[in-house]
Amino acid sequence: MLNQIKGLHHITSLAADARQNNRFFTETLGLRRVKKTVNFDAPDVYHLYYGDEVGTPGSVMTYFPFPNAARGRPGVGEVGDTQFAVPEGALGYWSERLGGLGVSGLSLDQLFGANRLRFEGPDGDAFSLIEAPADGRGSWTGNGVPLEAAIKGFAGAELRLRDTGAEVELLEFMGYQRAESEGNTTRFVMPDGNGANTIDLETHPQAPASRQGAGSVHHIAFAVADRAAQAEVRTALLDTGYQVTPVIDRDYFWAIYFRTPGGVLFEVATHEPGFDRDEDTAHLGQALKLPARYEPMREKITAGLEPIED
Ligand code: ZN
Repeated sequence: MLNQIKGLHHITSLAADARQNNRFFTETLGLRRVKKTVNFDAPDVYHLYYGDEVGTPGSVMTYFPFPNAARGRPGVGEVGDTQFAVPEGALGYWSERLGGLGVSGLSLDQLFGANRLRFEGPDGDAFSLIEAPADGRGSWTGNGVPLEAAIKGFAGAELRLRDTGAEVELLEFMGYQRAESEGNTTRFVMPDGNGANTIDLETHPQAPASRQGAGSVHHIAFAVADRAAQAEVRTALLDTGYQVTPVIDRDYFWAIYFRTPGGVLFEVATHEPGFDRDEDTAHLGQALKLPARYEPMREKITAGLEPIED
């Protein structure tokens, strides 16, 4: 069993409109945009990163906005609900705020004994805020959300699967421990993790396969401290029979990817070097940052991107 993984690093999803996406995460949810760059594999679209002040691993929600992308179809083989942690007692504030801003899909319930507020993102993305009284992480409060309600990062994520057997084995191999079950959902917890510690496996034996599109999660990334830890994880996964990509330089972290038995794309990403490698903390996310190989095309790339507000 591995001990290098520390919980989630980031979750990356698809959107249909960059401006709407930026407004939702910065103004509605009060996160900080910590990087404005392009999709390194398709530089004609943005890659936008939102999180806490510095984009601490475990707090980072990222988007590829493809203009006018068709909506995804929810189903099995994907990340379903993305869960954000908020302080105890914060859901009253959030119900009122999100309701007042016209956010759809609002419903209050409980998940494993914690108060939960479900809501939808601009493309029907499945989100929830979960009260996490023991979460000691700080929060970014630059956008009018008070400290006593502000998002601390991810609590975790839910994977929707037709059959969970092989995914359970994988999570346990990665260092997660099985916790309780409720209905068709079983919770796995990373001991001594970074706060974004839970993965909930939801079984839907009869559900159709998901179809990726706007509002779908593209992949979910797990955090390791550095490249040495990542190399150990990569070797262990290869030895176990997973097809893992070579290490890829994403400028702000190093990444490896592999498709899991249940169909969900997993990434393992490093803490190093972090989002402040090319701009200082006070100005994170403001200027358009390009990887070196696209720098010569800056003018053309900029002209093709719809401007978004700060
Ligand atoms: Zn990623």
